[in-house]
Amino acid sequence: MSYEVMLFYKFTPIEDPDELARSQRAMCEELGLLGRILVADEGLNGTLSGEASACQAYRDRMRQDPRFADMVFKVDPAEGHVFPRLSVKRKLEIVHFGAEGAPKPWEKTGRRLSPREWYEMLGRDDVVVIDGRNDYEYEIGHFEGAVRPDVSTFREFPAWVERHKDEWRGKKVLTYCTGGIRCEKLSGYLMEQGIDEVYQLDGGIITYGKDPEVRGRKFLGKCYVFDDRVAVRINQTEEDTVIAHCSICGAPCDRYINCGYLDCHRRFLCCEACEREMHGFCSRSCEAEAVKRDRVDARVKPLLATAFGGAG
Ligand SMILES: [Zn+2]
Ligand SMILES: [Zn+2]
Repeated sequence: MSYEVMLFYKFTPIEDPDELARSQRAMCEELGLLGRILVADEGLNGTLSGEASACQAYRDRMRQDPRFADMVFKVDPAEGHVFPRLSVKRKLEIVHFGAEGAPKPWEKTGRRLSPREWYEMLGRDDVVVIDGRNDYEYEIGHFEGAVRPDVSTFREFPAWVERHKDEWRGKKVLTYCTGGIRCEKLSGYLMEQGIDEVYQLDGGIITYGKDPEVRGRKFLGKCYVFDDRVAVRINQTEEDTVIAHCSICGAPCDRYINCGYLDCHRRFLCCEACEREMHGFCSRSCEAEAVKRDRVDARVKPLLATAFGGAG
């Protein structure tokens, strides 16, 4: 049986978000789809996995709804579900930016660039390329020369922009993110902040990697994704590159795990050898605390068991 994972969003005024959330949940349950859907006054944002025929049925039905008739789906083949459950939520925003007075994308947003246009813009010397994602996403893969944002969530961007915007005046500012949704807001916000020429990568990194002409050129490393795959390859032109390093031993590594101490649960880069060596914890003190307080993640219990000679 073949599976797919799909990514989609649409900014459009929604009159009754609660009703849309209810009908989305019912449709996903009926089709056996898992993943996450956010609904708000400003639109819908989702990522789902399921059998290929069920994903196709979802897309067909959504296209019959005039509000979503032109919604773009980014579809990848998958080996099975990449989400453990279904979550459909009503939110204030479909991507949490939180800035007071941030423009709605249908009112103001940066000029969209196709993968080809983006690639050509990257070669100019009067551009600043801003990664519109979080620092840990940047860490394992980004465009050559892109500015690393000092943020761990999207809603920290307004304050970060405030600190840096003077450095970007008079330049062409380019923004990109995973699938394009964050740039719809970030680029409009940059325009509101007095940056005149703002561009965004239409469809994000995922679309860029699929373009048959540019084939992901100038993207270094892998693209972080918020599902079981964790990272996907974008640059189809060279050997698979690894640009990040294991935070324990420093070897090239783009593998994130979470600390096995439930009260730490820190996301960190860790190679397989170090994961075994550290028993799945980010530090020896986390391991000691977790064991003492009986707060060990079930995931790392087998690693601990090996350490104690396989007992228990
Ligand atoms: Zn290591
Ligand atoms: Zn820890």
